[in-house]
Amino acid sequence: MLANSSIQSVQTGFKTLDLINPICQALHEEKYILPTPIQEQAIPYLVKGRDLLGCAQTGTGKTAAFALPILQWLEQNREVVGPKGVRSLILAPTRELAVQIGESFRVYGRHLRIKQTVIYGGVRPALQIRALSRGVDVLVATPGRLLDLLNQRQLRLDKVGVLVLDEADRMLDMGFLPDIKKICSAIPSSRQTMLFSATLPSEIVKLSRNFLSDPVKVTVNPPSSTVDKIEQKVLFVDRENKSDLLEFILEEDESIQRALVFTRTKHGANRIAKRLSKVKIPTEAIHGNKSQSARLQALEKFRSGRVRVLVATDIASRGLDVDGITHVINYELPKEAESYVHRIGRTARAGTDGIALSLCDAGEKSYLRKIELEICCSLNIDQNHPFHAQSIANKKTGVRKSGSKNFSDGRGRGNRNKSTVRSEGKNKDFSFSRNHSPGKPVNGKKNIRNRRAS
Ligand code: AMP
Repeated sequence: MLANSSIQSVQTGFKTLDLINPICQALHEEKYILPTPIQEQAIPYLVKGRDLLGCAQTGTGKTAAFALPILQWLEQNREVVGPKGVRSLILAPTRELAVQIGESFRVYGRHLRIKQTVIYGGVRPALQIRALSRGVDVLVATPGRLLDLLNQRQLRLDKVGVLVLDEADRMLDMGFLPDIKKICSAIPSSRQTMLFSATLPSEIVKLSRNFLSDPVKVTVNPPSSTVDKIEQKVLFVDRENKSDLLEFILEEDESIQRALVFTRTKHGANRIAKRLSKVKIPTEAIHGNKSQSARLQALEKFRSGRVRVLVATDIASRGLDVDGITHVINYELPKEAESYVHRIGRTARAGTDGIALSLCDAGEKSYLRKIELEICCSLNIDQNHPFHAQSIANKKTGVRKSGSKNFSDGRGRGNRNKSTVRSEGKNKDFSFSRNHSPGKPVNGKKNIRNRRAS
């Protein structure tokens, strides 16, 4: 039984969302005071069973935006799903993200009797098969392992009432699309479908119509806009000086408490991790060539602060929520401009500040230009380092503004964020109200996931 007094403060902030007491209690314990804009705008539709395409900036609470209405629906519509059955299915592109979403469901649903499990590749399936055998209310999965177990008849999707594609644009791109189509064909078409992402290219929005029925589109900020609280800078440097520059930055800048460094290749990630470890900068690497246990271990060391630097490929660019990442460093710029938005979104989460540094060599100038077109703003140039290459700063790219879909609406840089935040982000000021202890820096907040684990 929940004491009314203990949930009063939560009900004040979340009352318009009509969430049930056990969920409010969990939010209260997480010190969530107010819904974020995506939660405030999406949840009322979702609790009514509407399909939804949701777009909001990185780190602004999309997981709770879909998890809370699903938990509420499960609780209010108790049903025995039978052996190997699944009532709600959440698909995510990476194993780490799937684990994290599962953890969020556990936390938000801790006062409900919800059976849930997470399945992903790279580990033996026996435990996953056992967890599925009596049926689950919530299944979080990566598509490959889900299809394997579906083909082996270790699970049934005929009772799925809610489907979520997190990082929807990634899930609907060519790599995942065939799997997603197969999975959807095994789910009743009467299901509720929710698609969420921070970036939604127009071709994906078109494609999404095949998966949604009469959807509501909720866009809190323009797609691909970056959180205001991320200070973004570019450092021009010759390719052969990049690792010296990275070392210089990590050694000189004491404000870098926890840095996520992105490379384009697995080999590159290993090479940099080795080099930094040699100069006594505690570093781990995470990429697709590592075993799943090594991946989870590296992430855990980074979360807990045992290593200061995690070098990663783009498997870590989406969705990962690690508290206290002060800096994201693009050692190499991504070829896809959307990846930039996701990568730098690993910092400045839940209303905190963060810094994103991009090391750009001559061959990457055109990527930089595409990124600037995508996010509709130019990055500030940081020349305050011994390796600055003015010739790269001066280099013209040939990538033209008119080629960018983002400028087709005629809005120039800078306007995009501001005007849309004002018009759509109704509660900008309280978009991240969490009870912080007085005097405690926001960046110093405890890692909730570590706290739960301990
Ligand atoms: P997400 O974008 O779902 O990964 O969430 C980013 C971070 O925001 C996570 O650390 C969540 O715990 C946190 N968060 C989500 N919703 C709220 C809220 N209403 N108030 C405060 N923090 C929140």
